[in-house]
Amino acid sequence: MSLEPVSAALARAGAVLTIDLGAIVANWISLKHRVPGAEVAAVVKADAYGLGAVPVAQALAAAGCKTFFVAHLDEGMQLRGALPQPRIFVLHGPNPGTEADFAAAGLIPVLNDVEQVRGWAALARASGLPHSAALQVDTGMTRLGLSRAEFDALVADSESLAALAPTLLMSHFACADDSSHPLTAMQIDNFTAFSRALPGIPASLSASSGIFLGAKAKFDLVRPGIVLYGGNPNDAPSNPMAPVLTCSARVVHVQDIDRPQTVGYGATYTVPGPGRLATVAIGYADGFLRGIGERPDGFPVFADANGVKARLVGRISMDLATYDISDTPKGSIVPGDTIDVIGKYASIDDLAKAAGTISYELLTRLGPRLHRIYRNGTVI
Ligand SMILES: *Cc1c(COP(=O)(O)O)cnc(C)c1O
Repeated sequence: MSLEPVSAALARAGAVLTIDLGAIVANWISLKHRVPGAEVAAVVKADAYGLGAVPVAQALAAAGCKTFFVAHLDEGMQLRGALPQPRIFVLHGPNPGTEADFAAAGLIPVLNDVEQVRGWAALARASGLPHSAALQVDTGMTRLGLSRAEFDALVADSESLAALAPTLLMSHFACADDSSHPLTAMQIDNFTAFSRALPGIPASLSASSGIFLGAKAKFDLVRPGIVLYGGNPNDAPSNPMAPVLTCSARVVHVQDIDRPQTVGYGATYTVPGPGRLATVAIGYADGFLRGIGERPDGFPVFADANGVKARLVGRISMDLATYDISDTPKGSIVPGDTIDVIGKYASIDDLAKAAGTISYELLTRLGPRLHRIYRNGTVI
């Protein structure tokens, strides 16, 4: 931990990531309006997709969110240290032998196979108390979860079921971002059948994209991740979620060119001249993926340079990227200024698309070298 003033660290930073906690809360509230009657949890695995699990979960808890999901036991323990009250589910369930750690930290495992079910029931029997758990069933994703036969065997075993005390039945969509995919309807039907076989237990099928499928996919609890962080839930041209991130990269160098010139490694891109270029302190080592600059003709990428659109030119290198700032007034952008490489002219989905990936990967790769600032947080 550093005792130096924040402003000094900010002055030294190459690129600054601003995370708008108020926008995350606004996104969570907008989801509540989409699924009236259902609980809206929050998925904060992978350090809240790289944005900081503790500050994100604290802001959401202050707004009324009562249930969180992480992937790993360690993530759950870290979150429990900051948030004593809410329910925290751990998606991967216990590694063999770690059941007691879950109980000690008050974490609820998602039980994904018969071995995890057996281990958790054994813990409950040994302590003489039922220990609550979520049960995951496989409805067509073929990744985690009990098969229908395994589930039926468990439901028939009332002693084990009582020891487990399931508090949530869950499953996960494979193709919810494509509402016309036949697997989506099939998974809803399968999950409805599972849920009828375990009456009285709250059921949860939808993550971000599923929430936008309407009432048939709602069930009792939804588990959004990416849409809280401003990602587009499907491929629709307009994104219903509020943007959460701005990334401002420091201008290291400005140069005027008087004729067409290639820029960067491999000389892959020729900028028309005369013009002006700004080289900024962000690169693939920061998670500004190299692929973002690899397909300039199909996927031009822009930054916001004092309100002016500036095009990414040439390859992204480890620590630097170059933008064409010819449309900005001469002298208006100088070294030490910043331009927004994620922001008004480049959403996380735009950048992911340019790199041939998804916003999830872009966010979770944002690196530790970025200086992080939180806005509009609520202290609880
Ligand atoms: C990651 C994950 C989520 C959240 O997914 P998003 O698409 O980001 O909303 C929900 N449920 C499970 C089981 C997950 O693994």
